[in-house]
Amino acid sequence: MVSQRQRLQQQVAAPLPQNPQLVLVTDLDGTLLGGSTAWRRRFYAWLQRNREQVLHVFCTGRDLPSIARLLQDDADHGLAAPHLVIGDVGCTVACGQSLEPVPLAVEPIEARWQGKPERLLPLLEGAAGLSPQPLTADRRLAYYYDPECFEPDLVTALEAHGVDCLFSDNRYLDLLPAGVNKGSTLLALLELLEVDPSRVVTAGDTLNDLAMFETGLAGVMVGNAEAALLVELPRLTRTYLARGHGCEGIVEGLQHFGFGPLLAGC
Ligand SMILES: [Mg+2]
Repeated sequence: MVSQRQRLQQQVAAPLPQNPQLVLVTDLDGTLLGGSTAWRRRFYAWLQRNREQVLHVFCTGRDLPSIARLLQDDADHGLAAPHLVIGDVGCTVACGQSLEPVPLAVEPIEARWQGKPERLLPLLEGAAGLSPQPLTADRRLAYYYDPECFEPDLVTALEAHGVDCLFSDNRYLDLLPAGVNKGSTLLALLELLEVDPSRVVTAGDTLNDLAMFETGLAGVMVGNAEAALLVELPRLTRTYLARGHGCEGIVEGLQHFGFGPLLAGC
């Protein structure tokens, strides 16, 4: 009998840690890419040294080509590829090393996206305050929106076609298959990984991270979180608001959740 985890490993080029003490799930912009240069270097070096103890997952709105560019460009800060990537705001799952999509995780999302663009694009064409983002946007549609002139009634018309409209950072609008987001895809991935949920910590800074915090897993809202996300904090019982920005906030949150001993040397 092949376990889910073995099936996952067969589809991921690089070996996953056998028995990680921590599964760290980080948003990128404003979170893992946030904070001072000194903190970023220190934290990225710690991640590098602890690859067997810490299973690292990017969980981002970026698409795979953008993540590939980041991993090349950020070489001077020392950011290494994670073990796994959740991209496209939860619509893509890929191996962190090869950035090849993982069929086991992607196919259920693909099935929910079938036929959606054909129905949505006519509604979006020429809509006020919208412009497409220049990216591949797999299994979603990605736009910039202008809060000044965007027409809110459009949301109802779009969502009637089985998608969720996700606004983030006061400028991004993502159309995702209904029920698919960073949180749902993370929970599905954790099931494949067969990890103990008490070993998982998530971190983020904008509204597209809210679904991760709503999973009930330990969450770190970094100190530079956007105002619209901070409003949600009181009902997020497992989410810790850090003082530090970006990487410094992640470290502070890991200490809060009892992972201090693992952070030795960071
Ligand atoms: Mg962010």
